[in-house]
Amino acid sequence: MTFGGRPVDAPTTFGVVNPATGIEFTSVPDCSPEQLEECIGTALSGFATWSRRPIAERRHALRRMADILSENADFLATLVTLEQGKPLPASAREIADTAASLRAAAEIELDDEIIQDDDRYRVRVQYRPLGPVAIITPWNYPVFLMGMPLGPALLAGNSVIVKPSPFTPVATLEACRLMSAALPEGVLSAVSGGNDLGSRLTSHPGIRKISFTGSVATGRKVAHAAVSDFKRFTLELGGNDAAILLDDVDLSLVGKGVFWGAFTNCGQICAGIKRLFVPDQLHDAVVDELVARTARVRIGDGMVAGMHLGPINNEPQLRRVAELVDDAIAQGAKVVTGAAGTNGPGYFYPLTILTDCTDDMRIVREEQFGPVLPILRYQSVDEAVTRANATEFGLSGSVWGRDIARAEDVAGRLDCGTAYVNAHLALEPHIPFGGHKASGIGVSNGRWGLAEFTNLTVRQTAR
Ligand code: NAD
Repeated sequence: MTFGGRPVDAPTTFGVVNPATGIEFTSVPDCSPEQLEECIGTALSGFATWSRRPIAERRHALRRMADILSENADFLATLVTLEQGKPLPASAREIADTAASLRAAAEIELDDEIIQDDDRYRVRVQYRPLGPVAIITPWNYPVFLMGMPLGPALLAGNSVIVKPSPFTPVATLEACRLMSAALPEGVLSAVSGGNDLGSRLTSHPGIRKISFTGSVATGRKVAHAAVSDFKRFTLELGGNDAAILLDDVDLSLVGKGVFWGAFTNCGQICAGIKRLFVPDQLHDAVVDELVARTARVRIGDGMVAGMHLGPINNEPQLRRVAELVDDAIAQGAKVVTGAAGTNGPGYFYPLTILTDCTDDMRIVREEQFGPVLPILRYQSVDEAVTRANATEFGLSGSVWGRDIARAEDVAGRLDCGTAYVNAHLALEPHIPFGGHKASGIGVSNGRWGLAEFTNLTVRQTAR
């Protein structure tokens, strides 16, 4: 672990499993309650100095952190593959995207504003830092989802404690250890432990802001913990994104954008396509296109060259995906491809396409977070929009068609944070990102994301 730049061990450790083999490949410290106190003390003293540093110095530090990630990209990517499972090129992209997100954060402007200056008052609106921030991350994109809030949190003048998922702590601990060289003492810490460490962090009064990415169920617990002493929080939670194909869809996009919108990272992606609405008359052609693409995808150990996708990250998640597929089959869904489980080693599951699905099946109602795509037929666009919106989630959605004006009109009726036309999963660091309804509170990226790490403060002087 890293406490403000200082390497720290713990009296006990826990193992981290390589999902491609099912075998533990390393162990990491299990942060004790006393150590967490010490870490938060470090973050408080780091905050006292960092929050006073000029913004130019903070921007410079973020650029240097990005350089450090790029310089250590091969090392960090290997760790991501070993603990997360995705193929090495995808892990390398994750590290590159994290560096890009830090570089983009370094350029964000959120200046003080004078909103009144007359014979009555001079009124200045300022964006002040909050205090130590806890960044809590899930296991699907461990480094990227740490880096996305890290840049703005630090730029705003806060100190940060990162707590990665117990399934994927290794690359995050190493990245934070390396990046802390670009920062003064006390500013960046990383701790590892189980879910109980997360709840100790979120209920600690020394933490003034929580940036949480994870499931809806845990997000609810985080919000409860934060409210007890009015910590600020941003929640980036689950999704159940719908993609609606219109009857003039360019079918060549189905095998590319739609396919990879669903199956990138083996479907373990919050804002991936999880329900595909297809007009009746195109159903068979769309299924053929998707199945043909599936046949060309190689799934295997991410350390082996030539793999497109790796395993599911962990055993409970593998079991959940298999359970949802079995349930759908029992309810009448037909397996066009996939579904047959593998006998290991490793947590592999084949790309699975299900037809004859209905909205009340669990695989359609719940977030499957795995390599499974249920196909849902529809008769009218109004019906497709109503069904797409009939979910507790609202992360993103997409509409696919050649008539752009019509597609944009339909996209405008989706109740979600991001609605794409002829694209999905097109996140970029300057574009705000966040969920509606149970998919979250607050946004990441750009000046909107930076504002989430500040206290809006008014300075008002009478004339
Ligand atoms: P999770 O909610 O189980 O865990 C996320 C993190 O919270 C982990 O670090 C975990 O240790 C920690 N945690 C667990 N209990 C806690 C508690 N009581 N208090 C504080 N922290 C606690 O999620 P997961 O299974 O790791 O990740 C998958 C989920 O993340 C999916 O639902 C996915 O959609 C979501 N996700 C959302 C986004 C987004 O940007 N909206 C991005 C990626 C993943």
